[in-house]
Amino acid sequence: HMIRDFRIEEHRICVCVRKRPLNKKELTIRDLDVITIPSKDVVMVHEPKQKVDLTRYLENQTFRFDYAFDDSTTNEMVYRFTARPLVETIFERGMATCFAYGQTGSGKTHTMGGDFSGKNQDCSKGIYALAARDVFVMLKKPCHKKLDLQVYATFFEIYSGKVFDLLNGKAKLRVLEDGKQQVQVVGLHERDVKCTEDVLKLIEVGNSCRTSGQTSANAHSSRSHAVFQIILRRKGKMHGKFSLIDLAGNERGADTSSADRQTRLEGAEINKSLLALKECIRALGRNKPHTPFRASKLTQVLRDSFIGENSRTCMIATISPGMTSCENTLNTLRYANRWA
Ligand code: ADP
Ligand code: MG
Repeated sequence: HMIRDFRIEEHRICVCVRKRPLNKKELTIRDLDVITIPSKDVVMVHEPKQKVDLTRYLENQTFRFDYAFDDSTTNEMVYRFTARPLVETIFERGMATCFAYGQTGSGKTHTMGGDFSGKNQDCSKGIYALAARDVFVMLKKPCHKKLDLQVYATFFEIYSGKVFDLLNGKAKLRVLEDGKQQVQVVGLHERDVKCTEDVLKLIEVGNSCRTSGQTSANAHSSRSHAVFQIILRRKGKMHGKFSLIDLAGNERGADTSSADRQTRLEGAEINKSLLALKECIRALGRNKPHTPFRASKLTQVLRDSFIGENSRTCMIATISPGMTSCENTLNTLRYANRWA
């Protein structure tokens, strides 16, 4: 039994790490790259060969994952080993989830949504779009064609425990749980999509909606979880669902004494939801009957993706290479290391 359970876990959960290159700001302040990825599945955090006392943060630590992608890896490559295998799952009547987890600025949105910084916005290279592309490719296969599946997409945001529809002007939505423990986001817009182009348009709409908060755009988006879903339906009934989630930044720095009340509450909510997520993913691997879905809005909304015979999940932990980020990087690696 032990061996069998272990296999299930291995098959159902994939955890990987992605390192981004040093950015302009880090290069300007001569930040050091302290992350090495020596082989495809190991990440090492180095003590730099400079006279800086780092023993508090760095102990030449090594972490192992299913995959570790260095800073030269493209989104397409990351996609191929992470979300790509999960596209099959939803055609087999399964539920799939793919998360990007990491500190703000480490590359979660770049990985999932594509590039939204600057003027040349391009969401066609993000995992949302790549997954959608392959859904439409798979749909054309004769064995799937005869099923007559319809494809829908949703895009919403969870901010401070509240759900907002990114495809409907950020309308605030209620989450209801019925007697059969089915969770429903009431009024969530499910858009009919016929091709990758349709999906790209929705990603753009949702993303511009996401960043149009009153406060500074990045400050807001870094404190919310964005959930993009591709849903397959057959005669109106759910056949499979792929949820792709750009999680809120996992850093804690701003949540302490100096921050205002609202910021502290946001931070507490984020911590709570990331902890609950960890528990739910663990339970998924071990087929545990009791899972703390209700501990956060994020896990409550994703409940149907964690249960059931055929659910699979993938976690992409994104990390910044700089020494100035190493405390957050270690937290990220430790969080992700649990299942690897
Ligand atoms: P997050 O969503 O985690 O806060 P972003 O995805 O917005 O971080 O990334 C922050 C910045 O770093 C963006 O300008 C993004 O284009 C850039 N970036 C992130 N990952 C990579 C990468 N792998 N290669 C090149 N640039 C990257
Ligand atoms: Mg982001």
